[in-house]
Amino acid sequence: MITGKTKLLGVIGYPIEHSLSPVMHNAAIADLGIDYAYLPFSIKPEDLSTAIAGFEAIGIQGFNVTIPHKQTIMPLLAEVSPLAQAVGAVNTVWRTERGWQGTNTDVAGFLAPLKALERDWTQTTAVILGNGGAARAVVAACAELRCAAVQVVGRDLQKLQAFQQSWQTSPLTVNLQTHIWQELLQLLPNAGLIVNTTPMGMYPHGSQSPIPAASFNLWQPEAIAYDLIYNPRPTLFLQQAAQQGAITLDGLEMLIQQGAAALELWLGRSVPVNVMRQALQEYLVKQSKP
Ligand code: NAP
Repeated sequence: MITGKTKLLGVIGYPIEHSLSPVMHNAAIADLGIDYAYLPFSIKPEDLSTAIAGFEAIGIQGFNVTIPHKQTIMPLLAEVSPLAQAVGAVNTVWRTERGWQGTNTDVAGFLAPLKALERDWTQTTAVILGNGGAARAVVAACAELRCAAVQVVGRDLQKLQAFQQSWQTSPLTVNLQTHIWQELLQLLPNAGLIVNTTPMGMYPHGSQSPIPAASFNLWQPEAIAYDLIYNPRPTLFLQQAAQQGAITLDGLEMLIQQGAAALELWLGRSVPVNVMRQALQEYLVKQSKP
C-alpha cells in the first residue's frame, strides 16, 4: 500500500517501458514488507539533469540507470565509485549526505553465476563478442576473476582501438586484445569463456546467432557460453553451445543479481534474491504467452 510515508526508488532510461526492474524490485519490497515503491521513469537524454534535480527535490532514495544514461549521468553525481569509473558507466545511484553517489552493479551481477561455478579462472582466455557498454562490465569482471587473457571482438576498428586504449590507463589489470569479427574463428579453440554482449539473438531476432553454427566444433569441451540476453531463454547461441556440450548461462541471473546488489545498497540489508528471481521468471512466462 502506498502511504504518506512511502519512500521512492526507481529506474531511469529512454525508452523504459520494457524494463523488468520494477517487477523484481517491487516483488522484493512486498516480500520484505517495507514502505517503498519502485517506479520506471522515462527520461529523454536532454532532460537528464532536470530530472536528477527533480529527484533531489522530491527525495527519491535511489535509482537504477539504464540506456542511454549510464555514461552521461556520471558528471551529475557527487561521487562515482572506482569500479564504475573503470567500467565507464553507472547503473546504480543512491543518496548520501554529500549528494548522489553512483556505482556499477552489472559487474557483480555478471560475476555471480560464474563465481557459483567455483573455478580457477587464471588459465582461462575469455572471448567477448561486442565492445559496447555491457562489454566494459564484462571486461572488469574478467579482471576481477584474473582471467589469463581477454579477447574482445567487434565490427568497428576505430571503436575497438578506443576500447583497447581505455583499458591501458585503467586501474584494473587486464591482459586485453581486440579483434575484428573475421578473426573470431582463430580465437575460439583457446577460449574457455565466450560471452555474447551483442544484441544478436535478442527478441524478436531469435533466429540470429553471433557465432556461425559450423564453428561450435572448434570449442574446448569444457568451455562456458554466456549470453547477456534474457529474452528468449535460451538464445540460439546458447542452444547451439549446449548441443556441443558447453556449460551455458543466460542473462537473467545477471539481471537479477545486479538488481539485488542495487537494492542491498539502497536498503542497507540483505534482500530476497529468490523472490526477485521467481517474480521475473513468472513475468517472462506470462509475457511469452500470446
Ligand atoms: P551497446 O552499448 O549498444 O553495445 C552493443 C555492442 O554490440 C556494440 O559493440 C555493437 O557494435 C555490437 N553489435 C550490435 N549489433 C551487432 C551486429 N548485428 N553485429 C555485430 N555486432 C553488433 O549495448 P549494451 O548496453 O552493451 O548491451 C548489449 C546487450 O547486452 C543487449 O542485448 C542488452 O540487453 C544486454 N545486457 C544485459 C544485461 C543483463 O543484466 N543481462 C545488462 C546489460 C546489457 P557497434 O558498437 O559497432 O554498433
